Amino acid sequence: MVKGDRWKMIRVIRDGEYNFTTMFNDKTGEYIRAFDVEEDPFMAEYPHLIDVGLMGNCAHGKSGLCMKAGIKCYQDGLHSDNPNMKLEDYKKIIDWSKERLFEIALGGCGDPDMHENFEEVLKYTRDNGIIPNFTTSGLGMTPEKAALCKKYCGAVAVSQYSRLDMRADLALRRVHSEDKKKVYKSEEDIPVLFTLGGLNEDCKWDEPCYKINGLDYSWDETHHMYYGEDKQEYEFYKVYNEVQKPNYTMKAIKMLLDAGVKTNIHYVLSNSTIDEAILRVKYNGFPKGVNAVVFLLHKPVGLGDYEDVLRLDDPRVKEFFELVDNHRTPFKIGFDSCSIPAVVRWSKHIDTCSVDTCEGSRFSMYIAADMTALPCSFDNQDQKYAVKLSDEVTIKDAWESPEFNKFRDCLRYSCKGCSKRELCMGGCPLVNDIVLCDNKEREFYGG
Ligand code: SF4
Ligand code: SF4
Repeated sequence: MVKGDRWKMIRVIRDGEYNFTTMFNDKTGEYIRAFDVEEDPFMAEYPHLIDVGLMGNCAHGKSGLCMKAGIKCYQDGLHSDNPNMKLEDYKKIIDWSKERLFEIALGGCGDPDMHENFEEVLKYTRDNGIIPNFTTSGLGMTPEKAALCKKYCGAVAVSQYSRLDMRADLALRRVHSEDKKKVYKSEEDIPVLFTLGGLNEDCKWDEPCYKINGLDYSWDETHHMYYGEDKQEYEFYKVYNEVQKPNYTMKAIKMLLDAGVKTNIHYVLSNSTIDEAILRVKYNGFPKGVNAVVFLLHKPVGLGDYEDVLRLDDPRVKEFFELVDNHRTPFKIGFDSCSIPAVVRWSKHIDTCSVDTCEGSRFSMYIAADMTALPCSFDNQDQKYAVKLSDEVTIKDAWESPEFNKFRDCLRYSCKGCSKRELCMGGCPLVNDIVLCDNKEREFYGG
């Protein structure tokens, strides 16, 4: 029995096959696995989370809007033209999963809030004791839809896209100089256009807003500088002015926050977005009031290219993960499980009990709009581990299929000699190149 108000909405599922108990708090989203044995259970008898690809096509993607905004859609929304999931198929997923599943993450190729049966989907999920959550670009968000989210959803995530890589002029990107020889003696010595309130000191802003000559600036231009006798540091960034000219992302976040929805940000971490991620974490540059910022590792899938894959020898990668490990922010920070090799490598303060590596085929699965079950949504293009669901083939059948077992074998047998194996299991079974690890024990089991 769990006591305390916080756990009043708790639900418990006992896994008879793998001998452990899972608790889920409907209200807060807290999720705990409790087990008697020494090791964390490798998998569950039924997924705890199903990622449902409600959308088969994306109006924004097809129109070229996403490409124009620099979004490299892993579902290839530019070319995909499949039908959205039928309501009766969605209901079948819920009927199969009732009392066995805690949460559904709605997604797919497009924004779930654009689905023709959006309200019914949310209502049917909640009426059957499962919490719906979803991710959206925010393009089609309205106050009416935000009210539905408040009524039915656990949380909604809005994808926030980096703006730095949209500027062709390199000078507008991040410049970081640390010149140990020259000592700046005065403001005039420093190559900046203006300074924060005339102060020349280590600038730390609590708000991503500041004044220059009496005018308010908000993330239009951002300068950070430090100078002393021993060293000088100067950073210069330029990004869109989001407060004075709010874009659709900011508008959607505001609508959700105004409706009282627990709102998260999804931010893709890639070669071209990591500078801005560092800046936003360091200087609190995410919208006020969000619950958490979840960083998702870029994968070269769909329209995602190899050029944008983060590399381990890039000093910014170390800087980012160390920053997150040491820096306090007014919002929570989360990662997708694809980032776990980097988290276990660089973090010293993150409690490893709160970390789990790739959960695909172990605790979660993906179901595409055409009812194809996959261990992870990033297999949506190759469909190497696909199992087609039907009246004869249930979710449980897919879960126990040779395809899903083959995928699990990568996580079971990779990197046998590594001391961090239990935490990381070798990283991503689908895209080996995204695994941010260069340990000599690293060994990918191809399945
Ligand atoms: S299979 Fe790869 S992309 Fe999918 S959740 Fe696991 S680590 Fe991430
Ligand atoms: S060697 Fe393998 S298990 Fe160990 S940290 Fe690297 S990827 Fe993870």
